[in-house]
Amino acid sequence: MATRATKIVATLGPASSEPALLVAMLRAGVNVVRLNFSHGTAQDHIDRAAAVREAAKEVGREVAIMADLQGPKIRVGKFAEGKVQLVDGADFVLDAARETLGDVEAVGLDYKELPRDVKAGDVLLLNDGLIVLNVLAVRGAAVHTKVVVGGELSNNKGINKQGGGLSAPALTAKDMEDIKTAMALHADYVAVSFPQSATDMELARQLCNVAGAPYKHKAALIAKIERAEAIPNLVSILKASDGIMVARGDLAVEVGNAAVPALQKRMIRLAHEHDKVVITATQMMESMILAPVPTRAEVSDVANAVLDGTDAVMLSAETAAGKYPLETVKQMAAICLAAEEANDAELNLKTANKSFRRIDQSIAMGALFTAHHCGAKAIVAMTDSGSTALWMSRFNMHMPIYALTSRLSTQRRMAMYRNVRPLLMDTSYDRDTALADAESHLIRRGIVQSGDIYAITCGEPMGEPGGTNLLKICRVK
Ligand code: PGA
Ligand code: MN
Repeated sequence: MATRATKIVATLGPASSEPALLVAMLRAGVNVVRLNFSHGTAQDHIDRAAAVREAAKEVGREVAIMADLQGPKIRVGKFAEGKVQLVDGADFVLDAARETLGDVEAVGLDYKELPRDVKAGDVLLLNDGLIVLNVLAVRGAAVHTKVVVGGELSNNKGINKQGGGLSAPALTAKDMEDIKTAMALHADYVAVSFPQSATDMELARQLCNVAGAPYKHKAALIAKIERAEAIPNLVSILKASDGIMVARGDLAVEVGNAAVPALQKRMIRLAHEHDKVVITATQMMESMILAPVPTRAEVSDVANAVLDGTDAVMLSAETAAGKYPLETVKQMAAICLAAEEANDAELNLKTANKSFRRIDQSIAMGALFTAHHCGAKAIVAMTDSGSTALWMSRFNMHMPIYALTSRLSTQRRMAMYRNVRPLLMDTSYDRDTALADAESHLIRRGIVQSGDIYAITCGEPMGEPGGTNLLKICRVK
């Protein structure tokens, strides 16, 4: 039985829409499927979500669906020839007022506010930082620049400003429509692109709650940390979210490549301190878009994210548009497993002792502590909301956490939590029956056997979220 603790998020796209491939990818270890709303129509996403639920049924394991909103991609317009070749030292104008197609001297802008957001001396990075422009002057709607690093610039490439400072709001009109689609397909997670502050996340939360109400569905919210402005606001953004994504693609362009590894470590640590989940994303297995094996550096990158303690590692174009989507998932799963085995996971009592007052949280911590000291095989949490499993999983330890829930939405959401194996079980009746049931469930799945010790938590009366108040240490007869 696979015992991988780190979760894998795979982006779906043209390379991964075949039902049989989807089933194979889930079997190979995908825990969360990402629908990228930067591409495709609402119907594409609805169809993909249905295919995912179908595939999960076939595999017999629930997966979470994450709807990733496009956000305010700040882009240049289109060129007459589709693209131009910018030469180092040349002058180039980004002109918000230009209505004709672009050429080698100037191009229009999708993002009309750019001239208001920049001034002479600013550095603009186009096409994920491959092209660098120095702003010489802003005259009306025209941003005059000098090409510092040239190259090919094609239609609708993204623009970032070094150090941040573009004022586009995090949620566009398109995002607001896409939230409705995401709720209609019961997305378990909604990822918000380019939030700058907690307010952006609060607005997204309101929109999701309103759009989800007709379905009685609530999504968990992931803040993609990819703007320089988000860094000083990390803690307040975390508090307003259910998790964050270390969105290394845009983040690296804004803060500089070299700053990203340290930020990744800090974000993972902070997320865990605040009982939130964290996804490490972008270019993790990039070369596998075209090659059947990853580079040594990619192997190390994935392994290091696991050692940093990330809940999940993410695949983007590798699975959405790459040549080897299935192979990529398989290799990523193997790298995660090996890194976890090499990790000396010790329950850190200093962090386990952080202040908590709630009864359910105290029971969760008590279960960790006790299970750790009596050599338990597993920790089992009977949970309605999933909070008990989430608290337990914020600590680095080898012991697996089995989360039994009667709620499908909780089971799916927990698919993201590191080291948590969510199982669906009816927990709505009396305590003793539920405990006996849980044990036979664990035995049947080969999780525990005769003589094994496990710790189990539950709430009495059963079936009330936030009601965990019991810890039992059991030895299997
Ligand atoms: P994206 O976000 O792939 O939607 O741009 C992730 C990132 O920027 O790293
Ligand atoms: Mn991004």
